[in-house]
Amino acid sequence: MDTSEKNSNFSEGVSRRNLFDTLGRVSAGLAATSLIAQQVRAAPPPETKSEGLENFKFDIENQTGWVGDAGSAKEATVAEFPVSQSIAGVSMRLQPGAIRELHWHALAAEWAYMLKGRCRTTVISPNGQAEITDFEEGDTWYFPRGHGHALQGLGPGETHFILGFDNGHFSEFGTFGITDWIAHTAPHILSRNLGLPESAFERFPKKEIYIGPGKVPGAALDAFRNGDLENSQSAHKYRLDKQTPRILEGGEERIVTQREFPIQSSLTAVKMDLKPGALREMHWHPHADEWQYYVKGRSKVTIFGSHARVKTEEFGPGHVAFIKQGYGHYIEQIGDEPTTLLILFNSPNYEEISLSNWLGGNPAALLYDHFGLSKDQMDRLPMKEIGIMGRRS
Ligand code: MN
Ligand code: MN
Repeated sequence: MDTSEKNSNFSEGVSRRNLFDTLGRVSAGLAATSLIAQQVRAAPPPETKSEGLENFKFDIENQTGWVGDAGSAKEATVAEFPVSQSIAGVSMRLQPGAIRELHWHALAAEWAYMLKGRCRTTVISPNGQAEITDFEEGDTWYFPRGHGHALQGLGPGETHFILGFDNGHFSEFGTFGITDWIAHTAPHILSRNLGLPESAFERFPKKEIYIGPGKVPGAALDAFRNGDLENSQSAHKYRLDKQTPRILEGGEERIVTQREFPIQSSLTAVKMDLKPGALREMHWHPHADEWQYYVKGRSKVTIFGSHARVKTEEFGPGHVAFIKQGYGHYIEQIGDEPTTLLILFNSPNYEEISLSNWLGGNPAALLYDHFGLSKDQMDRLPMKEIGIMGRRS
């Protein structure tokens, strides 16, 4: 037993000073550990100290964000959602033909999941390879940090996607845009570098456009301006919804690590579908933070942050959750409509420890003494990972 953990757990009921005094008086024949066990049993149930846990819920779709004629963007960075240090999110909408202009992100790689409509992207890599790709609902993209890219809505209707960045301090409104750079570069430099007379730049945008109007391109992908350019040899697109899901009693999940999507070198993405009444079992992730975006349906998430601290929040469409690395958690599906959520981890590989697996990996005798269970009760404890449990009537 890790006594330091135990001490803090029952420090509510037994002060450290009292424990120390008692330990001093104990007879030599009584082991300190069994005394601690008695003290734990005598102590009242631990209080829930939720005030000690940071807020882990944010309503991204309820923000105003950036709004223009051609599109909009709402974001959740540490400025809006302080707990999300390692991952930032953006909900972006583009009208048909609208262009999220040529830009790059100095501080973060960009992941996206297409919720609605279609989108065309271009990207350039430092090795000189380029790619033009179309995306539809259920597709994801990944652009490594610093790689130049652009997006265009293809319609019909509004294109909507969720962007995830592997840095919570990133802001979509603080990216490096091509119009911003050109607008703030001396005309004689532009003339020399880009081969046009200085007068040509008088018609260029005077400040960053960010999202501007454009014409919907034809169905066929246009060629690169430079016909000699090599196509990207590492795909930036992964069709998440086309992956064969892992089917579990209470739902299904699709997990995309760097193994399935090699360019996705800093994130793991998951799409999780929960049936009504499902329970995503108690577990934690030893090496990564977890960022969630709720697409549809409702669920309650409870986190455990050690020292008797637990906190529950309810989530629905447009809500973001953030669960820090190593924090215990579970998801209870609620309501009649199934729940769909997108999940990002700030690691290219996936790791999880479930309570069920853990209990299966210990001797029964240890657990008898630990929990005070009967043989029958012990036999009913789960022994291996359940994942997502179905409804219990
Ligand atoms: Mn971008
Ligand atoms: Mn989790």
